[in-house]
Amino acid sequence: MKVGFVGLGIMGKPMSRNLMKAGHDLVVYDIVAGAVDEVVADGTVRGESAADVSARSEVTITMLPDGPEVEMAVTGPGGVLSGAAAGSIVVDMSSISPLAAQRVAAACAAKGVEFLDAPVSGGEPKAVDGTLAIMVGGRQEVFDKVLPLFGAMGSSATLTGPVGAGNVTKLANQIMVAVNIAGVSEALALATKAGLDPEVVFNAVKGGLAGSTVLNAKAPMMIGRNFKPGFRVRLHQKDLRNALLAAESMKLSLPFTSLAQQVLIALMNNGRGELDHSAIANFIEDMGSVEIKRP
Ligand code: NAD
Repeated sequence: MKVGFVGLGIMGKPMSRNLMKAGHDLVVYDIVAGAVDEVVADGTVRGESAADVSARSEVTITMLPDGPEVEMAVTGPGGVLSGAAAGSIVVDMSSISPLAAQRVAAACAAKGVEFLDAPVSGGEPKAVDGTLAIMVGGRQEVFDKVLPLFGAMGSSATLTGPVGAGNVTKLANQIMVAVNIAGVSEALALATKAGLDPEVVFNAVKGGLAGSTVLNAKAPMMIGRNFKPGFRVRLHQKDLRNALLAAESMKLSLPFTSLAQQVLIALMNNGRGELDHSAIANFIEDMGSVEIKRP
């Protein structure tokens, strides 16, 4: 397929490479010229703008930080919709507010362009391996057309409902991850403050009901004092803000999500916004004058 890719950051670079490796013709664009240079060096074609990319593509994928960037890149001047032909498809794979995804879909529909929201879970390692979990909102017929592209970037792609459903699913994922990390942080702070070895406690509980992928990934990082990202505090704060905005629009109360989001804001304010989200433990440690580490 002729595929356009807009947004060549931590995730977009490896995702576009995997599409190319699967035999698709790629045209790429990012506002940072250096990012485009890197991907063009691998054999993709340089796009001059988002509009230029979409004009040369059957499917245009966007992978950008948040809703405002997606709205700008798709509906703004020189954006994807200025170039896209009727009948082409736009797939936004960024994690954005479901409400923003629905606004972008409406702008696409007005030009006869199809739209899917298809955020991902798995982070950079799975973007590199092509094993992302992809959560999709939109029409079945459009999903079926794009499925070969999802297959090149991910190990699963699930249509969870109409446009917006992909991002609702992603926000649900982000709530479960954030609140789980907060629970792991408090549990290991308690164990350490009580004089126990947090690694022994981790090993004792991980096979029981408290076991989780989050526990297995994040407890060793906390105990090893390794907060190199993975997934940044700043981005997780953005996701929980989007979850709370979506919840508010439905008059749904999410007290634990709200608390986790406040903790992430506090971490950003004391210079930890670029750390891995396992740094939620640092907030609990600061409050309790304790450091989660082996004695
Ligand atoms: P990033 O900041 O590394 O990359 C974003 C890219 O978009 C940058 O290269 C930036 O220059 C470009 N950009 C911004 N505005 C643009 C515009 N108007 N036109 C063209 N390019 C533009 O971010 P990332 O880590 O690649 O994340 C992208 C999305 O994926 C986010 O929504 C994030 O929440 C989500 N996500 C990230 C991870 C992760 O582990 N990094 C995991 C899952 C989901």
